[in-house]
Amino acid sequence: MIIQKPKGTYDLFGDEGKKVLYLEDLLKALMQKYNYEYIKTPLFEVSELFHRGVGETSDIVSKETYDFVDRGERKMTLRPEGTAGVVRSFIENKMYGRASQPTKLWYFGPMYRYERPQSGRYREFYQFGVEAFGSSDPLLDAEVISIPVNFFKLLGLRGVRVNINTLGDIESRQNYRKALINYFKPHIDCLCCDCKNRLENNPLRILDCKVDHDLDIMKNAPKIYDYLNESSKKHYEEVKNYLSSLDIEYIENPNIVRGLDYYTHTVFEVEANVEGFGAQNVLCGGGRYNSLVEAVDGPSTPGVGFALGLERVLTALEFEKKELPIEDKLDVYVIPVTEKEKEYSISLVNTLRMSGFSVDMDYMSRNVKGNFKQADRLCAKVVIIVGEDEINQGYLSIKNNINNTEDKIDNDYIINYLDEVIEEVE
Ligand code: ATP
Ligand code: MG
Repeated sequence: MIIQKPKGTYDLFGDEGKKVLYLEDLLKALMQKYNYEYIKTPLFEVSELFHRGVGETSDIVSKETYDFVDRGERKMTLRPEGTAGVVRSFIENKMYGRASQPTKLWYFGPMYRYERPQSGRYREFYQFGVEAFGSSDPLLDAEVISIPVNFFKLLGLRGVRVNINTLGDIESRQNYRKALINYFKPHIDCLCCDCKNRLENNPLRILDCKVDHDLDIMKNAPKIYDYLNESSKKHYEEVKNYLSSLDIEYIENPNIVRGLDYYTHTVFEVEANVEGFGAQNVLCGGGRYNSLVEAVDGPSTPGVGFALGLERVLTALEFEKKELPIEDKLDVYVIPVTEKEKEYSISLVNTLRMSGFSVDMDYMSRNVKGNFKQADRLCAKVVIIVGEDEINQGYLSIKNNINNTEDKIDNDYIINYLDEVIEEVE
């Protein structure tokens, strides 16, 4: 039996691989413009971090983690999301002590969740995310929301919708929590199994339930806006004002609550409004978490961030028929005419590569005709033919596919020649 990949995972190669690298480059450049710093944390952490940093009652921790005991009897978990590890690192490396605040970080990498595999839902998937610590200014909420918005704009995705909501500060949230428990208690029999448990543990999550979504009792549930204290209202109004200053359209959606206990104030999701996209249309989610750093035993520090699922972005691009510029042409293909010219050719290939060109040569002992075919397959801009005469007389025969000419170029001038012809097309 051939061994197959684990359920819910995929191999990345070919055009899909190129697309992911392209998106990664784009995100890296975007983060430089926003002045965010790159951070990479381990793919596994001690399990307790996620219990405290994501929350016992969240779906992620209660049923989706990959847990294992290592050879030193330590309980470990493959990271299901990026925030907890970044918060741990922020505290452990005392980033809160830096003179320059806020501390704005971004990450990109695989996450692991034991979910039922289905379209848009994998057990190993990639997230890009940011976490910004140290400022409770609503300006930073708006900046963070603008990151996925601008990313999708750069990609040319059209049907993108920003949904926002607020959960208020801890006091407002507590009051709202009580109101929800009182409201849903008499209706407990109508709720799904998960929501019956959520009633005491995490009643806000009932609003976000995919099963009970359409029930009438959902529509009449108490709204957070009636439970916000003055400072929470002010924060929310300011976030909305800044979003307007950024020309970001948004929809206020009181059912966005996010899974975690530590969210305060702003929560948001960005969805692709694409027909047929279905349940995987949420591309990204995030919000403000002013009590998270403390929950992981750090000094009380406000934070705001989001995470974006890369596979879903790729699917949205496909649905909108957006091509990414991933086609890479080879600059130069080198053909040794016979075995005898191989040594000279490999040295030439090396020199050209170190001069900045993308270069390949024949490794299959093809004849010249077969090699020209191979050069076509690789879309080589320039083909260099190395024969006995060429080596003896110090020149190179060129087939220039950019302007369809054939040239003979002195050895010493080959780099100048390539600089000229290849730059022309770029
Ligand atoms: P959902 O409600 O779809 O389960 P979530 O609330 O679990 O989403 P987050 O933890 O907020 O998702 O993760 C942020 C983003 O990561 C999601 O918006 C989505 O794009 C992506 N994502 C989450 N889980 C998966 C998965 N199993 N496979 C692929 N992408 C995922
Ligand atoms: Mg989920």
